Parts: sequence; structure tokens; C-alpha cells
Amino acid sequence: MIIVVCGPGGVGKGTVVARLIDADPSLWLSRSWSTRERRPSEREDAYIWVTREEFEAHVAAGGFLEYAEFLGNFYGTPWPEGADDRDVILEIDVQGAAQVLERVPDCLFVLLEPPSAEVQAERLRGRGDPPEQAERRIAVAQAELAEGRRLGAICIVNDDLERTVAEVAALIAERRSA
Ligand code: 5GP
Repeated sequence: MIIVVCGPGGVGKGTVVARLIDADPSLWLSRSWSTRERRPSEREDAYIWVTREEFEAHVAAGGFLEYAEFLGNFYGTPWPEGADDRDVILEIDVQGAAQVLERVPDCLFVLLEPPSAEVQAERLRGRGDPPEQAERRIAVAQAELAEGRRLGAICIVNDDLERTVAEVAALIAERRSA
């Protein structure tokens, strides 16, 4: 199974996904490629950090399940390798989700929503992005949420981390037993 977790910046996707992975050895987290600059607060292994040329060469070689440009940087999911028989989690944007839905229509597609635009803006401003970047992310968030809903995602408001993690885990369990 492929599990797609989407949601605008600052919604807490990374934390939710990390919790799911820690709790369930049958899940495998895909590591994306990105051409973005690494934030000082960010882990070295948050992405496979590449130049635009390296990214484009990988696109040309058919190396991505999906990829998208988000606020001037490229992000892509390499074809899952090493997942063995585990279920694969993709933490990607809505443009990428649309591509995965085309290729894998029965994927589990979850959209995390912030409790409020204010909470989201606060999280984004607090996480070390240049202020201009944070403002751009806030500006695109509503459109991302609308697109995710239009694509038929299962929406979960992330107002309580424990509850959100439990809800996504329950959706995964339900799909596994179907
Ligand atoms: P960030 O710069 O905040 O790390 O990521 C920006 C957006 O790109 C987020 O919505 C994040 O989930 C998304 N993203 C991360 N990796 C990928 C990927 O491989 N493909 C796509 N389409 N989006 C990604």
C-alpha cells in the first residue's frame, strides 16, 4: 500500500509521519530529493539534497514516481526501493499527490489541516525559514487545502498530535484489513 500524507507547511506533517514510522515497523518512509537549501534547524537526512542539474537528470532518466515544483524548488519521490513488503509513506505536496493518484488510484490519501490559519502562520514563522519564504507558504496554504479536498483526500484537522496519529494509524489498519 502507498500512503500519501499531504498538508500545507506548518501543519505538522513531519511530526505525525515520524510518530507513525516509530510505532509501526511495517511502514517505510520514502526519502525525497529536493533542490531547496537546507534550513540550519533541519536534519542532514531530511532530504537527498541535490542541485537542479542533478534533479533534472533524474527526471530525464525516469527516476521519480512523482515530482513537483513548490515555491521555486523541486521535490521528487524516487521509485520506492528497499521498502520490501512494507507499506510506503510519502510526505508530499498536493501536486505530487495528484500524480500518485493517477498511477496508484487505490493509495490511502490523507490531508492534514491546521486547526486555524493563525496557528499555522505561527508555526511557519517560528521554524527558521526566511520571513519572505514563510509568508509565501502561508499564502499558498489555502489553495493547497482546497486542492487536496478536491482530489478526494481524507481530511484530518491536526489540533491534537496524539489524536491525529491515532486516526491515521486507524485508517492504515482499516485498509490493511480490507
Ligand atoms: P518543505 O520545503 O517544507 O520541506 O517542503 C515543501 C512542500 O514540498 C511540502 O508540502 C512537502 O510535503 C512537499 N514535498 C516534500 N517532498 C516532496 C516530494 O518528493 N514530492 C512532492 N511533490 N512534494 C514534496
